[in-house]
Amino acid sequence: MLAKRRERLTGEAESGIIKAITIKDIQNSDTGEVISDECKKTIFNTLKAQGAAYIYDEVKVVKIPRDKEGRMELLRTNAISSPGYPKVILEINEEAFGGKTKAYMDKLIKLQKYSTANSLEEAVIHECAHAKVINGKFYSQYKAIDEELSGPFFTQPIKGRADKKSLKDLAGEISEYAQKDGLECIAESHVKLSRKEYIPEELKILHDQYIE
Ligand SMILES: [Zn+2]
Repeated sequence: MLAKRRERLTGEAESGIIKAITIKDIQNSDTGEVISDECKKTIFNTLKAQGAAYIYDEVKVVKIPRDKEGRMELLRTNAISSPGYPKVILEINEEAFGGKTKAYMDKLIKLQKYSTANSLEEAVIHECAHAKVINGKFYSQYKAIDEELSGPFFTQPIKGRADKKSLKDLAGEISEYAQKDGLECIAESHVKLSRKEYIPEELKILHDQYIE
C-alpha cells in the first residue's frame, strides 16, 4: 500500500494499478449531463495542474443542499473510510453547477466574499488542498488531524505571541472561511499561496506541515 501511494505521489503509474482521474471519469459521473463541458474541463485541468488527479479516487456529481446559513457548497472533498487508506472523492454540486457556464461560475465565486477563491480554478485548488492533506494518511490519522485542527490548537492564543492572537484570528486576514477550522484555513492558505500572495507566517508553517 505504501508503494502504491508513493507511485500516486509521483504520478508514475507504470504498474497499471494506479489510475488517475481522467476527463472521461468526470464526464461519466455526470449521468444527467447537467454540468457544462467547459466547467468539467476546467475542473479536470485544475486537478491535473495541481497534481491531484492521482490523489482523488473518484469524482461524483451530487446534490448538496444549502447549509443553515443558506450557503451553497459548490465542491466538496470527502474522505471515505476504507481498508488502509481512505477513498478520496471529489463531489460536484449539481445544484450549483447545473446548466451554468464557466463565466457564470467564475462570477458567482468572485462575488462571494466568504472564501478567498475568485474563480472556478481557485475553488478547485481549495479542494485539492483538502485532498493533499488526506493523501498518504490512514483514515484514523486524518480524522485525528481534523479533530486537533478543529479544537483549541486553532482557537487558543499562539504561544509566545505578545498580542495573544490565535491561528483563527490570523486566518481572518485570509477569509471568513479560513476561520472555520484548521483544515479550511489550510485550504484557503493554499489558494493564497497558489497566487503567490502573502499569508501570516504561522499560517504558512501550518500549511507546510500538512502540504508539501
Ligand atoms: Zn474546504
